[in-house]
Amino acid sequence: MSGPRIPILMYHQIDAAPPKGTPLRGLVVSPGTFSRHMRLLHFLGYKGLSMSALMPYLRGEKSGKVFGITFDDGYENNFHSALPVLRRLRFSATCYAVAARLGQSNSWDIEEGIGQVALMDAGQLQAWIDAGQEVGSHTSHHVDLTACDPQNLESEIAGSRRLLEALLHQPGGVQHFCYPYGRFDAASLDQTIQAAYASATTTQRGRVPVPVQDGAFTLPRVLVSRSTTWVHLLLKCFTDYEDRRGVQG
Ligand SMILES: [Zn+2]
Repeated sequence: MSGPRIPILMYHQIDAAPPKGTPLRGLVVSPGTFSRHMRLLHFLGYKGLSMSALMPYLRGEKSGKVFGITFDDGYENNFHSALPVLRRLRFSATCYAVAARLGQSNSWDIEEGIGQVALMDAGQLQAWIDAGQEVGSHTSHHVDLTACDPQNLESEIAGSRRLLEALLHQPGGVQHFCYPYGRFDAASLDQTIQAAYASATTTQRGRVPVPVQDGAFTLPRVLVSRSTTWVHLLLKCFTDYEDRRGVQG
């Protein structure tokens, strides 16, 4: 396939580098790097969009120079370090929050020895929304959905949406979902569709072939890490560099 493809960028934390040797250190992008990435794409005439704003482009109903911006887990440092940049450039982004962990920390990572970092609380997520950004769901407890029984699947996928919608005032509600660890199977995919989300993102590498049809629930993304230089970013966004890496053998 060689039709148009749209990149959806995947960020996690935007913060100063943790000490060398810290697990998942690569997923912490410095505020300066994030700002340079966004200003570069803006300079090239591209507009960064939240999943709701991007959907018409992914469906092929609109065309233009756009890309998606997503943040996984809902770290507080997104609020302090990414939001000012997004506002200045009039970009929007979707932050996937862990519904039962708001205002807490990434406790799901403790067993892996990963440092604990504050997550946005409901007030900050509301301020994020009020500043033109979007909140999506990343389940209730950041679980591996492929290891859930049917009842847990319902509470993690549909239940997280109900929880977020009860806490936040977001026009249109919570419409977008992201699989923790990028893990999903037939049952979790089916549950996500049943829960009436409009899209779901994975960690599979690549840009989205347009128009998406059934693929709106298995969207690939472009990982941006600490070591992603601006040259890499351009390669990932505007060439088939990332798409080729997303093809599993
Ligand atoms: Zn996550």
